[in-house]
Amino acid sequence: MISARTGDTPAVHTKTETPAHAAAAESVLRAQDVLRHLGLDTSEAAQRLQQYGSNTLPPPARRGPLLRFMLQFHNVLIYVLLAAGVVTALLGHLIDSGVIFGVVLINAVIGFIQEGKAERALDAIRNMLSLRAQVLRDGRRQEIAADGLVPGDIVFLASGDKVPADLRLVEVRGLRVEEAALTGESVAVEKGVDPVAASAVLGDRRCMAYSGTLVAHGQGAGVVVATGAQTEIGRISAMLGEVETITTPLLRQMAAFGRLLTWVILAVAGLTFAFGTLVRGYTAGEMFLAAVGLAVAVIPEGLPAIMTITLAIGVQGMARRNAIIRRLPAVETLGSVTVICSDKTGTLTRNEMTAQRVITAAHVFEVDGGGYAPHGGFAIDGGEVAVAAHPLLLEIARCAVLCNDAALHRDGDDWRVAGDPTEGALLTLARKAGLEEGFEREAAPRTDVIPFESEHRFMATLNHDHHGRGLLCLKGAPERVLGLCATQRGPHGDEPIDHAHWDAAMHAAARDGMRLLALAVREGEDALETLTFADVERGGFTLLAVLGLSDPPREDAIRAVARCRSAGIQVKMITGDHAATARAIGERLGLAAEVNAISGAQIESMSDEALQRIVADTEIFARASPEHKLRLVRALQARGEVVAMTGDGVNDAPALKRADVGVAMGRNGTEAAKEAAEMVLADDNFASVAAAVEEGRTVYDNLRKAIAFILPTNVGQGGILLAAVVLGMTLPMTPAQILWVNMVTAVTLALALAFEAPERDIMARPPRDPAEPLLTRFLVWRVLFVGLLLVGGGLGMFVWEIGQGASVEFARTAAVNALMIGEAFYLFNVRSFTGSVLNRGGFLGNRYVLIAIGLMLACQAAFTYLPAMQALFGTAGLDVAAWTRILGFGVLTLLLVEAEKALIKNLNHGRKAGNTRTTQ
Ligand code: ADP
Ligand code: MG
Repeated sequence: MISARTGDTPAVHTKTETPAHAAAAESVLRAQDVLRHLGLDTSEAAQRLQQYGSNTLPPPARRGPLLRFMLQFHNVLIYVLLAAGVVTALLGHLIDSGVIFGVVLINAVIGFIQEGKAERALDAIRNMLSLRAQVLRDGRRQEIAADGLVPGDIVFLASGDKVPADLRLVEVRGLRVEEAALTGESVAVEKGVDPVAASAVLGDRRCMAYSGTLVAHGQGAGVVVATGAQTEIGRISAMLGEVETITTPLLRQMAAFGRLLTWVILAVAGLTFAFGTLVRGYTAGEMFLAAVGLAVAVIPEGLPAIMTITLAIGVQGMARRNAIIRRLPAVETLGSVTVICSDKTGTLTRNEMTAQRVITAAHVFEVDGGGYAPHGGFAIDGGEVAVAAHPLLLEIARCAVLCNDAALHRDGDDWRVAGDPTEGALLTLARKAGLEEGFEREAAPRTDVIPFESEHRFMATLNHDHHGRGLLCLKGAPERVLGLCATQRGPHGDEPIDHAHWDAAMHAAARDGMRLLALAVREGEDALETLTFADVERGGFTLLAVLGLSDPPREDAIRAVARCRSAGIQVKMITGDHAATARAIGERLGLAAEVNAISGAQIESMSDEALQRIVADTEIFARASPEHKLRLVRALQARGEVVAMTGDGVNDAPALKRADVGVAMGRNGTEAAKEAAEMVLADDNFASVAAAVEEGRTVYDNLRKAIAFILPTNVGQGGILLAAVVLGMTLPMTPAQILWVNMVTAVTLALALAFEAPERDIMARPPRDPAEPLLTRFLVWRVLFVGLLLVGGGLGMFVWEIGQGASVEFARTAAVNALMIGEAFYLFNVRSFTGSVLNRGGFLGNRYVLIAIGLMLACQAAFTYLPAMQALFGTAGLDVAAWTRILGFGVLTLLLVEAEKALIKNLNHGRKAGNTRTTQ
């Protein structure tokens, strides 16, 4: 039963019928026809890719187009419209009922197209997050896109990786894998290489690493036994096929509001019907049409589609600015973020390390040359020195390249690092001293390693040369390394450590913003074959040097920090570096470095309450490790802050999950961090977080603008009908006309708001209170105010024209056009909630607004003058005088709303301090 997983092709399972987890590693390698130390060669891999197909899961079964189209009708608002259409038809008003159905249909088509667009936008973004894998091919370790993996590939795993295919492990070093994706069990499982019983269940197959699971700890290597749909996760996902729907809390809130509105509207329509027939003496048939018209007028059918497209456009905008949204609700949360906690190295700084200073027991060397190009020399007190005169430099360089996993590549004049930039800087340093890493690594091959982790802050390697002499190399944060050293390497041999000397020199370097890294060795480890923590922690190392590495802040991060502060968002820097280094960099970034910087150790000794108290005005957290991040997020949240937190390592995952917006690094981040995050930065740059916040605020603004535009339209139309019934007059618009207004507004005017650019002051306001309701008091007021203006205009126009002796058709056409023109002018108002739009930018700033108005005018011209439309809607051609009055009403609307803005601004000014959310 399980043997199916080894593949159906003879090449794979001729040799063994035993499942991979029950067979010895060697026999699986043999069955896959691959050598452990060479991997596949490129042509064989290409051939297998042909044979097995790419290592991707079939996309989740999408809803078919027909179902998606039908779902557009699945909405209470639409049900009400459909019911109205049916009853209208039964009453014999075929034209009205035809128009009702037509509108419902057009609405569904628009919703369908927009939803399709939104989904494609999300797909495109998902593709930006493709998985990479480290494989051995042609005897060389290389990184490839995970979809190119084939059975037989040797894959390397490191902590934080997502396992890219089903692997039979052939080597493990403290490997623990979290298999929740597969088994639901969130405790990481210790892995090994020994086969298990053929009948073992998934969770017990210790020698397998399954696609989609996460490496929680350690390293390992395995041979691919299944890819794509053949993997265990492939089988499960084929069964589930879950689809993410495009929604966020705000959209759900809006949908709930829509349902509530529907019932209210039905009740009002019922009451109107009763009032009209009983009190005003309309006939039941006439009154039914009016009630339907009222319901239709007030139901904002177009709103859900517009909100979805606004959201999708926002997500695309963020992706363009290098912030890739993984979970849609984050779009809204971003807009209310009050604190951003950011990593220092690589996010706020450039992560282009250069070793600038070498501190030894006797000297302080300055190293010149910037970047990774290995050109530059050493100087003491400004005087150039020969490396030959200082053999210690060579020993330092040797330790630096042995205890190192990076590689240096030359690309024309450009030198690049593959791997950790900190380690890249060491390779450059070694080359400046005349040492080439390839040669040194050949001469003393590595026997074992403890990789660097932010928790223990060191890396150690065990190397044996060809005479069997063992050497332990240690590099890491100075406090860690110094604590393990018994002696220092002096000019005349080993001597006791001179702590005062090191402290002073290190402090000076840290104050210059340098990152510190100590190097130490322990000789005579010939018998040692594996390296454990205990071996390192036994101590007895000899300190060679402390290196000072520069890592300048990013220019755009400095600007972004300033923008965040003006936007009422605090920026906190979290780093594993020394406090003095952090403070120096923080100062250059414009953080309040002088005020406060606390260390991880201090955080540890603090109670939760104490931490909550101090966290508000501390901006720098030094020597902090991932667990501290989690406590920081909690403490900030306990103070009511909305926290965005960046992270890259596997251990950052809990803090990222806990944060309101977890932000993972796209380049240097682990898959574990990305999985836990709401958002991934394509460029690892702090400036992109700030940009995402700005986009988040814009999206929220635009959603509210869509509401602020559409609802008054509904209020206006409903109000006109209601007023007419209450006053017992001829209906100023027919139900069919009202439907027309609704439809044209939704497909032209309102849509333009989704493309609205951020308002100029968007990053000068305090963050939005996340508890603030969607319909704030201000928004309700604005909706009613403009709604009543439109009622006045539409009704007034109708009454005026009738009074002048015009036909009912003519007067109705004038009323409808007055409503539309009023809305068109109001569209300019809406572009800014409180800012004036009576300027060039206000009228011309969004070309979609102009296009939409152009379209609307074309529709209205057809509505007014085309004979077919006149027959369908009962309209009549208007004369110039009527148009002049209509235009006048439009301008008046514009001016009145602008006046209201000015008034509100003045009122607000008076009580500003008490009203806005204070975050500083
Ligand atoms: P951050 O990413 O916030 O700068 P890290 O956790 O990466 O902090 O680094 C903390 C400290 O650990 C550094 O100041 C340095 O002394 C040490 N360190 C960093 N990278 C390495 C490495 N690859 N090997 C050994 N030590 C390292
Ligand atoms: Mg780091």
